[in-house]
Parts: sequence; structure tokens; C-alpha cells
Amino acid sequence: MPDWLALYYRHPIELSHGEGRHVWDTEGNRYLDFFGGILTTMTAHALPEVTKAVAEQAGRIIHSSTLYLNRPMVELAERIATLSGIPEARVFFTTSGTEANDTALLLATTYRRSNQILAMRNSYHGRSFSTVSVTGNRTWSPTSLSPLQTLYVHGGVRSRGPFASMSDERFIEACTADLEDVLGQTRGGVAALIAEPIQGVGGFTSPPDGLYASFRKVLDRHDILWISDEVQTGWGRTGEHFWGWQAHGQSGPPDILTFAKGIGNGMSIGGVVARAEVMNCIDGNSISTFGGSPVTMAVGQANLNYLLEHDLQGNARRVGGLLLERLRAIGATVDSVREVRGRGLMAGIELVKPGTDRADPDRAAAVSEAAREGGLLIGKGGGHNTSVLRIAPPLSLTVSEAEDGAHILEEALHSVG
Ligand code: PMP
Repeated sequence: MPDWLALYYRHPIELSHGEGRHVWDTEGNRYLDFFGGILTTMTAHALPEVTKAVAEQAGRIIHSSTLYLNRPMVELAERIATLSGIPEARVFFTTSGTEANDTALLLATTYRRSNQILAMRNSYHGRSFSTVSVTGNRTWSPTSLSPLQTLYVHGGVRSRGPFASMSDERFIEACTADLEDVLGQTRGGVAALIAEPIQGVGGFTSPPDGLYASFRKVLDRHDILWISDEVQTGWGRTGEHFWGWQAHGQSGPPDILTFAKGIGNGMSIGGVVARAEVMNCIDGNSISTFGGSPVTMAVGQANLNYLLEHDLQGNARRVGGLLLERLRAIGATVDSVREVRGRGLMAGIELVKPGTDRADPDRAAAVSEAAREGGLLIGKGGGHNTSVLRIAPPLSLTVSEAEDGAHILEEALHSVG
């Protein structure tokens, strides 16, 4: 394996199985899973409905390709088209979030006949050649070579940067003015703005609600498309909304929406939704051999059914709200906690060297180790330095599990200081 494929923990964990919100390692230790394989185990581990869908579809046919009619794929596409809020929506399935964003960039640049893209500072959109070139987070963008000309806009990070001290209203005004200013530096004909409603890898940072509605007015004046990367924020994780873009509701839906992670509960599903005229602007053939494969699509349906029937978005709002409240109270007692932020079941705890504003990745690593010792798995993320603890459990989290997890985290934070 390559050197750049980093593992978590000084003594890495090999997971053998899971159930609900818990996982076990091969040494028999049980952990509460507050990272869900990077926000991907959306409903639960070993969910019987999902396991059954895998087995039944695998027993019928595993692969057919999109050259033949594929009922599970068409049915899931129809449901996602309706859920997306995008009028006249078309859905194309890929195998990852990267490939979904890559497709979105292909569509936008072809539709607008321009390779100029706007992206947010501190963003993450994937690991491919095109997606690293719209990834503002330097840690995750290993090359400056690019098929695109990317211009980075302010706004994804509320509490750092030159506009941090402003009120929400002034912050939105300043970022919108910055967007106008950046557009004044282009040759015209920018293709799209790509943005995560809440930056995932960037440490669960987000702008004030309404920023993208304000941006949208500017984009519309220039016929620039808006791509909402919902790879982390989709499917109700943010509690208040089914999609992250809805926090900027006045904007109406984006022109293009990308998704992945949670919908497959671990099966490789990614995808892009766009208005028909945008999706159909490609005039060559295009195919993803594995995209929309029958087993992944059957799982997508079973998983989505469970999510909707059990109102896991409502659960994310309720239990996530309690968890955030608890984490904020804990954070207030720890000097190194600069900020506790988030929405629904997406909570970030930013750590700094006490008394300063300087990121403290070593401390974040130490807290993460201590949480593991206590039986809790969490993630890490954040700008130039990985100093934000990321908490994103499956959306079926119970109140008592939220309390258990918060308690372990409290001990971990206090033990490190
Ligand atoms: N977009 C966002 C917002 C992501 O968080 C990720 C994955 N962390 C991706 C795109 C890329 O998805 P994948 O790893 O499935 O290619």
C-alpha cells in the first residue's frame, strides 16, 4: 500500500464486525462508533434490512452494467430525483464521491464551455486529478497541476480568517463582495461554484445560513452554475434539513447536487443529480462500469427506506441537538477547546494551544487516542492542521449512546487537558 494511505492511531485498529452503533476489533474490544467509517455507516452497522438486500440481490445477479435495464437503479434514481428538489432532474450513479464531483465538473465545464471554477477555501471534493484542483484544503491537494482554473472564495469558515469578527449579516455581505471582486478578475464565462454546505474534511465548518442564497443571486446574474457537494451533508445528517443546501433555502435548489457515502451504508454508491438540460449536455458516450450496480442499488433502496420510515433525520435533529448541547457544556470546561460547532449529527470540536488561537494537532491526536482507550472512535479534520475532532455517528444513535459517547469524550479531553 502507498505511504500516503494514513491509518488512525499509534496502534492501528483492525475491525472485525459491528452492530448498530458499535464495532469490535480483532482483539475483542468494543467501541462506540462516532465516525461511521467517515460518515458512511448512515443507518447502522449490520442493519438486517440492508444485509438482506445484499444477500437477496447477490443471489439474483451481482452485475449487469448499464447496457441492460436495471430495475433497482432506475427505481433509486427516480426516488433521488424527487428527493433532490431539482426540477426535471436526471441522476447518474458513480462509485464514489470523487467520481460524482468529477462528473459534476465535466457537466458544468461542458455546459458553460469554460474551465473556470469557483471553489471555497478550506474545501475538500475528492482525490482525483480534477477534484484535487478544486480542493482548497492544502493537506488534501497534492498537486497544483490542474485541468481547471480555480478561484477560491471566502465563506466556508465562519470563525477564522479576515471576516471572522463580523456579524453574520456583515460576514455574508463581505463574502458576497469578495465573490463579485473575484469575478471581476476573470475573463467572464465562469462555469460553476462548487461548495460543501458544511465543510467535512475541513473540520465541520460552515458559513452563516443564507450565504449561498446571497451567492446565488450573483451567480444567476452571470449564468454560473451552483454545485452543492452533499457527500457529507446529505440524507438528513444535519437534522434540520434533508440536504445541506436547504439551510440557504431562499436560494432554491442547486443546479447540480452530488452525493455518496451514507446512501450505500458502505456499499460504493456515488452520484450526481442535475437538471435535464445540464445532465444531457455531454455529446459523447459515457459510462461507469460499476456505477449503479444492482447490489449497491438494492442496498441504497433498503437503506433509504429505513432512513425515511424511521425518521432518522428527526433523530439526528433531536439526539444530535442533545449531543451538541452536552459537547458545548464540556467544551466550556476545557481550556484547549476553541469552539464546538455543528448541526444534527455532525459535531466538531476545535482544539488549540491553551491561551492562543493556534491549532494543536498533537493534542487532537492525543484526545483521539484517549477516546479510543475509553471505547469511542471519532474522526479528525480541519484546515492546515488536523486539530478538529469530528463526531458523526450513524443517524440511528440513541440518547443513551450519545450520553455514553459524550462521557468518554469528556474524560478524554480532561485527561489530555
Ligand atoms: N466530497 C466530500 C465533501 C467528501 O467529504 C468526500 C470524502 N471525504 C468526497 C467528496 C470524496 O468522496 P470519496 O472518498 O467517496 O471519493
